[in-house]
Amino acid sequence: MDFELSDEQGLVRETARAFTDNEIVERARENDRNEHFDLELVAKLAAQGYLGAIVPREYGGAGLDYLTYGLIVEEIGRGDSAMRTVVSVQTSLVCSAILRWGTEEQKQHYLPKLCSGEWLGCFALTEPDTGSDAANQRTRARRGNGGWVINGAKMFISMGNHAKVALVFAQTDPELGHRGLACFLVDTDQPGFQAQEIHHKMGLRGSDTAEISLDDVEAPEDAMLGEIGDGFKVAMSALDSGRYSVAAGCVGICQGCVDASVRYSKERQQFGRPIASFQLVQAMIANMVVETEAARMLVWRAGYLKDSGKPNTTETSIAKLYSTEAAIRCANTAIQVHGGSGYVDDYPVERYLRDVRVTTLYEGTSQIQQLIIGRAVTGINALIPS
Ligand SMILES: Cc1cc2nc3c(=O)[nH]c(=O)nc-3n(C[C@H](O)[C@H](O)[C@H](O)COP(=O)(O)OP(=O)(O)OC[C@H]3O[C@@H](n4cnc5c(N)ncnc54)[C@H](O)[C@@H]3O)c2cc1C
Repeated sequence: MDFELSDEQGLVRETARAFTDNEIVERARENDRNEHFDLELVAKLAAQGYLGAIVPREYGGAGLDYLTYGLIVEEIGRGDSAMRTVVSVQTSLVCSAILRWGTEEQKQHYLPKLCSGEWLGCFALTEPDTGSDAANQRTRARRGNGGWVINGAKMFISMGNHAKVALVFAQTDPELGHRGLACFLVDTDQPGFQAQEIHHKMGLRGSDTAEISLDDVEAPEDAMLGEIGDGFKVAMSALDSGRYSVAAGCVGICQGCVDASVRYSKERQQFGRPIASFQLVQAMIANMVVETEAARMLVWRAGYLKDSGKPNTTETSIAKLYSTEAAIRCANTAIQVHGGSGYVDDYPVERYLRDVRVTTLYEGTSQIQQLIIGRAVTGINALIPS
């Protein structure tokens, strides 16, 4: 086993670290306070090549491997989960799906514009009545106008208000069940596509989240990603990449909690000495360090498997489950280290806790990850009670 990063990986990490410190960290608090989706910063992410890191260069991407992509996402996640969400959705949920399932024409048409940030994309799977049971899509696609006509509603869609292209999952024939599901590349610039901002989120306030209604939305024949019946597979393969990205972002949050707590505990004096000199404070910091390192190793293993072309769905779920839950524990502990100061946004730790809370919910809840892992080791599918 080789735990060394290559020179190139080290350089990419250093660059992402500096970019995060110089560009992202300083804006994170104001964007959070103002619920501001920072398109100027999104353009900077794109200029750095962070919106299509794993997309081959021939399609406008950076052509990096998954492990290196994970290093970038970790750094951005340390700075601001709202911006990490942009990277994850654009790269893992949208670009990776087009890369894996798209025709040559679809790849040529969409990927360069997505990688350059000229277009944003969104991944519209969740519906008001369809969350964990993702195969049970109520959105309908029927043939019409020489292509497809889509009607339905989508819920909690990241970047749905700004996306130019939406991956819309829909049922073409309810009698076929999941074999009737399809994924469409939908142009959002049409009257039937209506997106509305969702406000008052607990965290991720600097990210855009939408409720979408689809009212006779048109998709031409060549707008389908894969074929009829591939919809669920498209969604699951995209989530394999998305969960990796969420996990890597959570390692960044864990590291941010360690960094903030070490810094604060050495500055803050009580009983005439820095609080870092108290054993109970060091115990809190040590626990965070262990969780950070364990989460990072699980992410690196999943990245290694992806880069080796080996099966990795279970290992990605393990990394996602552990990293997201560990990041919640770290953020909570980091607030404890900061005392009352941790409860206000002068320090990043309260935002870390609010932002990280959603990561055990989206891209498959922690319970769904447990069921995936449980199914792999027992051979019994407990996702659907028999
Ligand atoms: C800020 C934000 C951004 C999001 N971005 C996107 C996006 O870009 N695209 C998108 O498609 N979706 C997105 N989502 C939606 C997210 O993926 C869903 O919220 C998530 O999949 C859970 O679905 P649900 O909310 O309907 O919960 P439910 O599925 O109703 O689950 C509720 C509870 O029941 C449990 N549960 C459900 N089924 C089982 C089972 N079989 N066994 C055991 N427990 C079970 C769950 O674990 C959970 O605890 C986003 C959500 C948020 C909050």
